[in-house]
Amino acid sequence: MKKIVIYVLILVILTFIIPFFFTNATIESKAVIEVDLQENEEIEVNQETEQAIEQSSVDDAPYEYKNYNTIKLLHSKTNTIEELQLDEYLYGVVSAEMPYDFELEALKAQAIVARTYTLYKINELKHGEAHICDDSSCCQAWISKEDRLAKWEEKRAEINDINPEENWNKIMRAVNETKGKIITYDGKPINAFFHSNSGGATEAPVNVWGGTGYPYLQTVETSGEDAYTQYSSEVVVSREQFVNKMKEKYPDFNINFDDETCIQIIEYTDGKRIKTIKIGNCNLSGVEVRSIFALKSANFSIEVGSQDVKFSVIGYGHGVGMSQTGADSLAKQGYNCEEIVKHFYSGVEVVNF
Ligand SMILES: [Zn+2]
Repeated sequence: MKKIVIYVLILVILTFIIPFFFTNATIESKAVIEVDLQENEEIEVNQETEQAIEQSSVDDAPYEYKNYNTIKLLHSKTNTIEELQLDEYLYGVVSAEMPYDFELEALKAQAIVARTYTLYKINELKHGEAHICDDSSCCQAWISKEDRLAKWEEKRAEINDINPEENWNKIMRAVNETKGKIITYDGKPINAFFHSNSGGATEAPVNVWGGTGYPYLQTVETSGEDAYTQYSSEVVVSREQFVNKMKEKYPDFNINFDDETCIQIIEYTDGKRIKTIKIGNCNLSGVEVRSIFALKSANFSIEVGSQDVKFSVIGYGHGVGMSQTGADSLAKQGYNCEEIVKHFYSGVEVVNF
């Protein structure tokens, strides 16, 4: 009798209780997967909003460096495609994007950034058959060795100490000594934005392009950027030009220059740029004002004179990601290339692919 009870109990356990545990476990793990997917989808959507790019392939693609030993470069002016060894392509990018006389560690940081940016762009599949283009406003700048050496030759007439072959070797060294190194966040190559001069603090992408995402692109401060010519600039326009330019964008624009409060900065970003500014009867973002008056950055002050309006501008570029002069300044302070990269991109790893 006891045996029968035990058998029945075992049967009950086998038929009801064990499947119940399995079902529960399955439901739980599925729930986890769904949450993960939702988070990923949210990031993808946000990135699309910011740059209007097709992002879906980026997360699924295998990031095997060896798969990209050669890349297909689209020459935007001639609309032709050239196939290059990846590192050979990077020599042309680094020499087009950063001055040769920057510190070697800064050039190496630029090489790592350019390699990462290239892999990220390849996975966007933005240019059809080509992987990336040579237009700096679309992908990243590139110059052939031949053209680069010719430009340095031209400069040699003015500046004696330029040695084109030596410069090229320095660029090659920056790429070769960082061979295979890329920047990842959560195991994936980052969208490694960079710019010329941060003015002392980099900018969060939300303040430039809107949207959210990119947890590795946060405001960071860098000392020594004021030592570079890219740090400060001025734009002066007549009062009439000022009004005309504003009216091109806002036909109903009006302003009374005699009113002391005709221009008021309402809010700054954490990156010390202008977030919102009231000009006459219009409210604008600093980025908008930068675009209307072709300013070098959204970190500016405005002075109304009796005839003119003067913009005093700090920094050069959108301010997101690595500042190139900041990288050089940090290299001068003893940072190596990986430390420079980790200074500008928060929470990232530099890995070999
Ligand atoms: Zn492009």
